Amino acid sequence: MSTVKSQIGFAPIHLSNYERDLVRTVRTFARTREFPPSGDSPTRGGFDRDFSIELSAHGWVGMTIPAEYGGSARSGVERCLVISELLAAGAPLGAHWTADRQTAPSLMLNGPESLRRALLPEIASGRCLMAGGFSEPDSGSDLASVRTRARRVEGGWSITGRKIWTTDAHRADYIEVLCRTSDSERKHEGLSLIVVPMDAEGIQVNPIESMDGERHFNEVVLDEVFAREDWLIGEEGSGWKQLTAELALERSGPERYLTTFPLFESFVRSRSLAAGSNEAHPLIGRIIAQQIGLREMSLSIARQVDLGGSPVAEAAMAKDLGTELEQLLVDQLWAFRDETLEPAPEADRLREFLDINRLRSAVFTTAGGTNEVLRLLVGRQLDQWAKTRKDWVLRSPLAETVFEFANGILDADPAARSAPRGELDPASARLLDVLREGGFLGVSVPEAFGGGGGSYQDALDVVAGAAYAGLSTPIIEGSVLAGFLLEQGAQAFSWDSGLAVYADSDVTAEVVDGDIVLSGRINTLRWAEFASTVVIPFELDGATRIATVDVADLSLERLPADIAGEPVHAVRLHNVLPKTVGECESNLAALTAELGRRAALARAVAMAAVLQRCAEMTIDYAAQRRQFGKPIAHFQAVQTHLTRLASEAQRVAVVVDAARKDAEEGGHLPFGPVAAAKVLTGDAAIGAARTAHQVHGAIGVTMEYLLQRFSRRLWAWSLVDGTSEEYARLLGRRACASELGAWKLITSTEGGVEND
Ligand SMILES: Cc1cc2nc3c(=O)[nH]c(=O)nc-3n(C[C@H](O)[C@H](O)[C@H](O)COP(=O)(O)OP(=O)(O)OC[C@H]3O[C@@H](n4cnc5c(N)ncnc54)[C@H](O)[C@@H]3O)c2cc1C
Repeated sequence: MSTVKSQIGFAPIHLSNYERDLVRTVRTFARTREFPPSGDSPTRGGFDRDFSIELSAHGWVGMTIPAEYGGSARSGVERCLVISELLAAGAPLGAHWTADRQTAPSLMLNGPESLRRALLPEIASGRCLMAGGFSEPDSGSDLASVRTRARRVEGGWSITGRKIWTTDAHRADYIEVLCRTSDSERKHEGLSLIVVPMDAEGIQVNPIESMDGERHFNEVVLDEVFAREDWLIGEEGSGWKQLTAELALERSGPERYLTTFPLFESFVRSRSLAAGSNEAHPLIGRIIAQQIGLREMSLSIARQVDLGGSPVAEAAMAKDLGTELEQLLVDQLWAFRDETLEPAPEADRLREFLDINRLRSAVFTTAGGTNEVLRLLVGRQLDQWAKTRKDWVLRSPLAETVFEFANGILDADPAARSAPRGELDPASARLLDVLREGGFLGVSVPEAFGGGGGSYQDALDVVAGAAYAGLSTPIIEGSVLAGFLLEQGAQAFSWDSGLAVYADSDVTAEVVDGDIVLSGRINTLRWAEFASTVVIPFELDGATRIATVDVADLSLERLPADIAGEPVHAVRLHNVLPKTVGECESNLAALTAELGRRAALARAVAMAAVLQRCAEMTIDYAAQRRQFGKPIAHFQAVQTHLTRLASEAQRVAVVVDAARKDAEEGGHLPFGPVAAAKVLTGDAAIGAARTAHQVHGAIGVTMEYLLQRFSRRLWAWSLVDGTSEEYARLLGRRACASELGAWKLITSTEGGVEND
């Protein structure tokens, strides 16, 4: 498979055995402790210096610090895994947080050596509390406008200024101060980061009470405070670059979606206990689906940092999506606060979590850089992103070839773009002929069974290539499902000359005059118009069997084509004699579940390709279309649309990749990531189509313009192979069914630990 190149990129993560073991060890450690709900620290659990020191003894503080400075010399990914387990359990990490997350990596990267020697061992011991002195009363989002100054004095610097919102300054050992060390025409130049001990003369800390009554942050007044020459991080004047890199670490960590996790887990537990609480399952499932995506994003960013990258835009995207989820989570669970629940201690705990997080939730999208400003950051790279993301969809020569075929059909005949409502899409019908001639119809079926000898992944690439061009194929109903069933029933089929399709049905079998006959109804049989055979699994006398039925032996009832222009029929079977019947070893329920997962992932892959194309088209259009004398992309309202569209497409891509990498391993597809991919694509589809049309204005709704081919597919496919609501309900139900159910599902990708 080709590598995915992109300006904003999230490469899939594969965990090593060591990393998986590490997760198990930390999980056992964290889950055997009881951490009370804490309002002490808004974004990193509670605050407990002794606990930080205890974690250090396990090697879980200063994990990325080299051994020569007292650290454990582990990777950022390992740190991310450890932190995730601890945050999910509600462990108090506030006492070592900033030093461990930001200061240590910055010192390792920029030096100087004297400061490394002085601080890194202390950080690794869990005993160093660092405050971040960046914001000022008049410098919030526009951080480069800070006015705190450092002037050279003998042996160092003298710093004067006022910092505000400085978390933990009242109990910190040191503060990193962003200050101006020289003047420059450009405000981002001439800034430096200097470390100052909090007990230095001239520092005054004034507490600020936040609306929950806690004292997390402070005003810090610096009056001629002396700082050592060699405690300036890196080079003088390079503070902005260093700070941006530090903030990327601050923004992309698991705390950006896991701060509210203990609340969520308490809610899930309460649903497990409450009778008749099924109505919350879809809500729980949707939250889990998003958390799976965010976990993948944050691990991927950590890996990029390990490889020496500076994924600033990726971090901004992850923080935007993560903190928005955290806020939404609190908003949605809040409605359950005053419900009467048994047992009382669990209900009380949930209520306490809700109150704490309700009051905190106002800061999620502000601290660490506001989401509006982060979107501007992402927005600057959107053009480049749109140009390079094609590689993600067309990742193999097969996907590329199918895309070229499909695109060629639309290019050669503009009339083929037209697909009036209820009628068959002519371009997709032509593509079907091309695929048949090219021998692609049975792409994932082994040659021994008459197919192309490719894999499930190959079928996904064909589906994606066609979808990215705005065309449909029967590859899911055919090769992916019918082909798989025929293989299970050890039946060959001539895919070069025919098409076999599968549809979920309630067909039953009985033996009449010594022959097996089938009866029942298939409500939605897709692509039967082009098929020679329908494949039907059934159970008889406790054994699973796979039947093939000639389409000619069925009376098909033609329904209007769906809004993507795909043919749909209904079929009633009454004592129909199958052409062949094969035996299958699996039990029917397990087989049907596997078929469901294969179909759901394939549909998600198709929809992810369409979402990607929608985002690219829209970004491109907004860069070309001029109104009021400039491209509409230059208006902030439009740019927000574009950024959200790209973020949604990217989140979907990450989860689809997570599910695909599990499929790469072969065999059984795990439920968690597949369900998450279906939930996220289904949910993103409607909003993405709406946004894409909004940005395109009138041109977007014409038959001639290609956007309609994508939005129609998003709408139509959001109802096929399971809706997002159905999959969210299933995810939610599973989460409620066992202890740690939600967390196990979130970590259930191959990049995680617990496969179900
Ligand atoms: C709990 C908490 C802890 C914090 N801890 C620290 C800390 O330890 N150290 C530290 O230095 N700072 C800290 N901060 C400060 C934080 O970084 C700032 O609050 C943040 O950068 C935003 O600045 P501001 O609050 O002044 O809002 P402003 O910048 O005034 O923004 C107000 C509103 O205007 C919007 N806005 C501003 N500019 C633009 C633009 N160009 N386009 C679109 N919208 C815009 C913003 O998105 C926001 O909605 C903390 C804040 C909180 C809430």
